[in-house]
Amino acid sequence: MQITVRPLALTLETPFKLSYGATTVRENVLVQIDDGTFTGVGEAAVVPYTGETPARVSAYLGDGALAAALGDNALWLEDALDRLPPGESSAARAAVDMALHDLWGQHLGQPLYRLWGLNPARSSRSSFTIAMDDDEASYRARLNVAAAQYGLIKLKLGGGDWRDDLERVRIARETVDAPLCVDANGGWSAGDGLAIVPRLAGLGVIFVEQPVARDDVDGWRALRAGLPDERPPLIADESVQGVDSVPPLAGLVDGINIKLAKCGGLRAARRMIALARAYGMRVMLGCMVESSVAVTAAAHLAPLADFADLDGNLLITNDPYRGAQIVDGAVRLPDAPGLGVTPRD
Ligand code: MG
Repeated sequence: MQITVRPLALTLETPFKLSYGATTVRENVLVQIDDGTFTGVGEAAVVPYTGETPARVSAYLGDGALAAALGDNALWLEDALDRLPPGESSAARAAVDMALHDLWGQHLGQPLYRLWGLNPARSSRSSFTIAMDDDEASYRARLNVAAAQYGLIKLKLGGGDWRDDLERVRIARETVDAPLCVDANGGWSAGDGLAIVPRLAGLGVIFVEQPVARDDVDGWRALRAGLPDERPPLIADESVQGVDSVPPLAGLVDGINIKLAKCGGLRAARRMIALARAYGMRVMLGCMVESSVAVTAAAHLAPLADFADLDGNLLITNDPYRGAQIVDGAVRLPDAPGLGVTPRD
């Protein structure tokens, strides 16, 4: 099998302001695996907070050990995935996993969701993310645009004082009728969370993502103990990485946000979904700032999720591929074999 690696610089439509800084360009990496009959494609998202760099991703993808591990039979997907070098970069492993799934699906002539027996009509509605914005008029304008197109609005919070966050949600509630969810990206203390979450529930927020810092186990425990049972579900995002990170969260969080770049790909994501269900957790399917390649790969799992947050490709102006789409707020999966993505030019 032939591996081709190329950089993919994605331009953000709006600078992304999170609790840990602002960015305008993301340096992702595309990988293509060609077996002489078909070409599978995958994407590695380079995400600031995970410590990924384009160089680390490319080093993994360009290593001869990887090429040797792929074998020569695209149908023996599990064998190839078992042999992948461990490597530090989960995003790079995810890219290879996507490309191998794409190749496998193309050989079998079916889209991935169909090979897994999933009903595409069961795909959860996908949220659209609104970044923090101190200009209230432009914040309201962006909320109105998003609400006209998407069934669920996700507000980024965690920028400082929780009272400012509450005010942002009040403004959003006043501006649009669409259901709201929030993501604090670990920006609150347990005390902040105890103060704001009941108020968010009163504003109709349907779930709260990553209220406390990723390693703040005591914070998660304090929230579970101190908040009423009928709270909006508390979903771990940064606190969840790969398959191994799920069992320790049982009893601490109400659900997990699975992202391919964090967990290492579709096979790991499917194992995490099975584990989460065994522990009675909700499942959210998320993405990074990614093109339609990685977003579509994740979208094939949307029929298994309670919540989808697959808007990474909608936040960029130069998506080189077409794939899954959000139509009337719901995820619409492509019919073509494998990932089902096609280049735009
Ligand atoms: Mg998040």
